[in-house]
Amino acid sequence: MYKNYNNGYTLKDSFGRIINNLRISVTDRCNFRCRYCMPEKGMVWMKKDELLTYEEIKRLVKIFAELGIKKIRLTGGEPLMRKELHLLVNMISNIAGIVDLALTTNAYFLAEQAENLVKAGLHRINVSLDSLDPVKFSEMTRRNYFHKVWEGIEAVEALGISPIKINVVLIRGINDDEILKFAHLARKRAFVIRFIEFMPIGADDGWSMNKVVFTQEIIETMEHGLGMKLVPIEYRGSQPEDRFMFEDGVGDIGFISSVSDPFCNNCNRIRLTSDGKLRTCLFSLTETDFKKLIREGADDDTIKEVLVDAVWKKEPGHLINRTGFVRPNRTMSQIGG
Ligand code: SAM
Ligand code: SF4
Repeated sequence: MYKNYNNGYTLKDSFGRIINNLRISVTDRCNFRCRYCMPEKGMVWMKKDELLTYEEIKRLVKIFAELGIKKIRLTGGEPLMRKELHLLVNMISNIAGIVDLALTTNAYFLAEQAENLVKAGLHRINVSLDSLDPVKFSEMTRRNYFHKVWEGIEAVEALGISPIKINVVLIRGINDDEILKFAHLARKRAFVIRFIEFMPIGADDGWSMNKVVFTQEIIETMEHGLGMKLVPIEYRGSQPEDRFMFEDGVGDIGFISSVSDPFCNNCNRIRLTSDGKLRTCLFSLTETDFKKLIREGADDDTIKEVLVDAVWKKEPGHLINRTGFVRPNRTMSQIGG
């Protein structure tokens, strides 16, 4: 029987944080080249046999769920590039204990896959969309795909999935002039517009502090531009974002202030890379190899013991922009954003 630091099956780290949220990267590949994430050329992808199979992912999720993992997010790279993702969605949605199954996608393939994904049991979808202007969108993603992405968002909306969260990364000097356009979109449509501060985790991302547009600046720009205050929305759950609406009760806007106000103290997440490595922080410098374990025939109890151990050692938090910060050698797209 595996060691149990926690007097129960709940996953807990040495700082007392309960871990119930697992992000699974299903591929490192992507058909976009967002400038904060990947360089235009030279990405080297993992080989197919290096990736966990759907059966292997299913087995790990089942074991992890027995220890308290309740929420799963599928991500990548671009998760919809993995063939027949709805088959994996179906497997995970049938695992006892999983109460929330979500997807983060660039939405390029969403219009054609949305119905199958929802039928298979997907609960929620986040779409990354950094610009509402097709020309600027191409500048951010290095792909002229704005209309495909928008079509994907509307397909999900038509299926009644709610809320659809739209992730926006602003880079100073490129798309930071679109704050008000996004505010108006949040007021017009039932989307949660979620701003994520630009982090130093992309390959060749050109990150510097002065390219980050901080939450506070976005709030001030919106309040000034619309002549209305943003007020906090009370909501349930342990999301990393702070949510606001305009004082007239309209709009739903989230902020993930990973650089200016990290949520590490309340972090409830761990991550599984597409090649089966567990990371207890986006910025971890070490990983635990679950693919090796399962391919060498480890039984469920051994896997549980290794998981409990790894979670116990979860880092206190990241050090972006502080002394001692070290960039991990894997990028966001290789880890799973
Ligand atoms: N390809 C999918 C997508 O773009 O939604 C899923 C993977 S992507 C790595 C997940 C999220 O990470 C996206 O919302 C993206 O905007 C965000 N992201 C990637 N690089 C980032 C960076 N350097 N700073 C902040 N967010 C980043
Ligand atoms: Fe691809 Fe998502 Fe990275 Fe953009 S952010 S390059 S869509 S993985």
